Amino acid sequence: MTLRLGLLAAIVSLLPMVAGGAEPPRRAVDVVPGAVVRWDARPGDRCAKAAESWEPLGGACYFGVDIRLAPGTLEVALLRDQARETLLLNVGPAPYHEERLSLDPRKVTLSKKDQERAKREWQEVAPVFDLRGPARFALPLAAPLAGAPPARNFGTRRVLNGEARSPHGGADYKAATGTPVLAVAPGRVAFVANHFFSGRGVYVDHGDGLISMSMHLSRVDVKAGQEVRAGDRLGLSGATGRVSGPHLHFGLRWRGATVDPSVLIGSTAHLVAVPAVP
Ligand SMILES: [Zn+2]
Repeated sequence: MTLRLGLLAAIVSLLPMVAGGAEPPRRAVDVVPGAVVRWDARPGDRCAKAAESWEPLGGACYFGVDIRLAPGTLEVALLRDQARETLLLNVGPAPYHEERLSLDPRKVTLSKKDQERAKREWQEVAPVFDLRGPARFALPLAAPLAGAPPARNFGTRRVLNGEARSPHGGADYKAATGTPVLAVAPGRVAFVANHFFSGRGVYVDHGDGLISMSMHLSRVDVKAGQEVRAGDRLGLSGATGRVSGPHLHFGLRWRGATVDPSVLIGSTAHLVAVPAVP
C-alpha cells in the first residue's frame, strides 16, 4: 500500500533555471526504489542513461529505479537531434516494510562452502542481465500464475539478528507446489538454474534488457535457448532452494535495475508517467 501511495505522490516539477544560464529548465520527478518511469517520446527520439542509449518502446522511454538505490538523484535523458534533454529522478527512501527477525545464528550465517557456491552461482547467471536484444514484449506483462492473488513482499528489508540484509528483489506469490508457472511475455529462455538460494529457476530474456525470473520451482519444463510465448508453461511452482515454504518468487530486471513486478504486470497505471518534451 505504501508503495502505491509513494508512486501516486510522484509529481513532475520544474527546477528553477540555473542563474544566468541559457540552459532550459531541468525537469525532475520523485520516485522510490523499485519504481519504473515512463517518459513519453516522439518519433526519432532515443532514450539514454549514463553511456547507454536505446530506442523507445511503444513510444516511450522506460527507466527502472533499482531497489537497492540509496536516496539521491539519478539522471536520465532523451536524445533528440543534437539535443540531450535530461530528467532528474529524485530517489526517496524505500517505503517498504521492514522485518526484524531473531534466528538461530547457524541458520543465518552460511557455511564457507555454501557462501562459495552462492557466489559462483551468482557469477554464472550475471551475464544474463547484460543481454540487450530487440524488444519482444509490450506492456503490461501477463501474470506468472493464473488467477493468483496479488504478490507480496517486494522490497521488504530483512534485519536478521540486528544485521540488515539486501532488500527482497522480487514479488512472492502464494502457490501450492505444482501450480503452473507461466511466461509473462514472449521471449527466449536465457538460463535454467538449480541454485542454492533460488532453487530451480527459469530466466527469460524478453528483449530490451528485460529479464523475468521464476524461482523455487519443483519442476522446469523448458530448456535454455527455447523460445516461449506469453502464457506458455515454464514449470511448476515449489519450494526448492532456501525457502520457508512453497511459493513462487517472481523477479524482473530491466536494463540491470531490479524493479517492482507489480508496476508492470496486468496494468500500467502505477508507472511514474512523465509527459513528452514539447
Ligand atoms: Zn521471494
